[in-house]
Amino acid sequence: IRWTEGRGWHDAQLTPYAPLSIDPANMTLHYAQEIFEGLKAYRRPDGSVVTFRPDANAERFRTSARRLAMPELPVETFVAACDALVQQDKAWVPAHGGESSLYLRPFMIAAEVGLGVRPANEYLFIVIASPAGPYFPGGVKPVSVWLSEDYVRAVPGGMGFAKTGGNYAASLLAQAEAARKGCDQVVWLDALEHKWVEEMGGMNLYFVYGDRIVTPELTGSLLAGITRDSLLSVAKDLGYTSEEGRISTEQWRRDAESGALTEVFACGTAAVITPVGFVKSTGGEWAQGDGEPGKVTMALRKALLDIQTGAAEDVHGWTHELA
Ligand code: PMP
Repeated sequence: IRWTEGRGWHDAQLTPYAPLSIDPANMTLHYAQEIFEGLKAYRRPDGSVVTFRPDANAERFRTSARRLAMPELPVETFVAACDALVQQDKAWVPAHGGESSLYLRPFMIAAEVGLGVRPANEYLFIVIASPAGPYFPGGVKPVSVWLSEDYVRAVPGGMGFAKTGGNYAASLLAQAEAARKGCDQVVWLDALEHKWVEEMGGMNLYFVYGDRIVTPELTGSLLAGITRDSLLSVAKDLGYTSEEGRISTEQWRRDAESGALTEVFACGTAAVITPVGFVKSTGGEWAQGDGEPGKVTMALRKALLDIQTGAAEDVHGWTHELA
């Protein structure tokens, strides 16, 4: 779907996957006006196909568009485009059972040609899809994390809450540093004090204190994950208390070592939930838990995945049947 100034959204098309032809002076290539989303289509036990909270992705896409000075795509158009692609590619949605899905990647780029630094006057909204296997083919395994102190992902007033490629470009070096330190993932801290835990490279974090789960509050410099938001409710369904709060790195270490902090996990569309088992930082390292995925972590993971795949009743009305 194309957007042109003065004309709005027009020319929706469903076409075979093919390379785009891009002018070397396309403004996206120079000034990075780009935003994207990620969501999954799952096959239910009866063979029908659903997506999970596409309206929430559509709303976040509008929020990202505003920050990047791009036009806001109507929620219905976003959802209709995803529906049309999944209908077309239905045969590629894996069978129910397991955790396989059809992953959808909606995105928008500037389509104007020119080198002036200003919002473009033309944009392209595109959705592509690809089958995705289970994130943990060998079973869920805790990951190790590196607390990044040399780099920050986002600053107050910046675009950390937007899902834009630039945020991911900024994270690649820190992710490589985490790998050099022997860790699977980078954890971002706040930009001002380097003290408050924000999120992981591509996932939000949750801290489990017995039957109370806490996730870092949305400060504006982390992404408002849809999995994160869903878990605030799913936790209550399972009888836990869930809340948003602030967790410092000192508190993480102290509470992990005292045993008060029973589990930590990360969550996002890709892996649903990933346990965190080991933490490393310039100030030292510590084990989080006993090396096995925690009970609360796995209970939440199953409950959410069951809703997403249609194995359990969806009391929240989150699953979306294709139009
Ligand atoms: N934080 C970042 C930086 C991410 O890229 C993602 C993945 N979209 C998340 C959090 C989790 O968001 P969601 O649950 O919507 O996938």
